[in-house]
Amino acid sequence: MMPFSPARDFLHATLDGSFSAARHWQNDTLDIAWPADGVLTLQPRHHDAATLDHVLLSAGVHGNETAPIEVLNRILDDVLAGRLPLHCRLMLVFGNPPAMRNGARFIDYDMNRLFNGGHRQQAQAREAGRAAQLETLAVDFLQQAAPGSRRLHYDLHTAIRGSVFEKFAIYPFTDGRPHQREQLLWLESAEVSTVLLHSKPSPTFSYHTSHHAAADAFTLELGKARPFGHNDLTRFAGIERALRRLLSGSTAPLPAYDAARFALFSAKYDLIKHSEQFVLHLADSVENFTALPDGMTIAEDGEIRYVAEGGSERILFPNPKVGIGLRAGIVIQPCQLT
Ligand SMILES: [Zn+2]
Repeated sequence: MMPFSPARDFLHATLDGSFSAARHWQNDTLDIAWPADGVLTLQPRHHDAATLDHVLLSAGVHGNETAPIEVLNRILDDVLAGRLPLHCRLMLVFGNPPAMRNGARFIDYDMNRLFNGGHRQQAQAREAGRAAQLETLAVDFLQQAAPGSRRLHYDLHTAIRGSVFEKFAIYPFTDGRPHQREQLLWLESAEVSTVLLHSKPSPTFSYHTSHHAAADAFTLELGKARPFGHNDLTRFAGIERALRRLLSGSTAPLPAYDAARFALFSAKYDLIKHSEQFVLHLADSVENFTALPDGMTIAEDGEIRYVAEGGSERILFPNPKVGIGLRAGIVIQPCQLT
């Protein structure tokens, strides 16, 4: 029997701490497994599962980023009730349930800095064990895909600050694999046409699945973080519609790639906070993707000065409050696919 119902859905089962041990069950059309707190896998019965696309959807890696959690929960409800047919294998992950219960970004440590083995350096953090668990579950799931079926991972977030481009994607470092135009076109169909192409490994969930499972994986920043129940989910209609079509195998044919429809950026360098003397010369309220005029001093750190060059650079994820040795922002610049 199904351990939760539309009246007490998976999100509320997670927030209530209902998970006790791994379980499996079936309904008319689906095989369902609940292998861990906040993790559910679903596959259509009567299909050769390995030949289906394998889709990992995650939200709540930052526990206070509630809108994507609510969007995924709504989609899941429709899949479980048979209102949305499933034509892939789906793993749905609510990343950090203890933080979600507290309405907090994290309990001890930012979990999206603990993947790709990063948890081993922060073993005392409560998020460390969870990151290790999700690494294993996610990679084991994606690696069950047969050759020729797609391995996709979309990790959904909302940002702390406003953004010049409200929605954007981070395409993690691909370890030399070519960037997939088809994926950019799908993102555009989800109303995400600003993309940062990352140029080196990072301790994020999406880089982990890209690197260890060769998934087409993305971190999606979809708007601003608000508490449960305070989200205007119509602002997330683009991603919700695109995900529903993806899961049900009804994505419309995508147009030819046209670079003019995208704003692509690459990371130029990280602003590193080397000492307590670090000063960021940007207002606390500065938005992501704010342009940095040529010659502007972006930050100072003792003898070090970070100066903007050329006028087309922009700032991403500025945060002068990080610890010593950590990244206090990324300077990015426009780029094209090669
Ligand atoms: Zn986030």
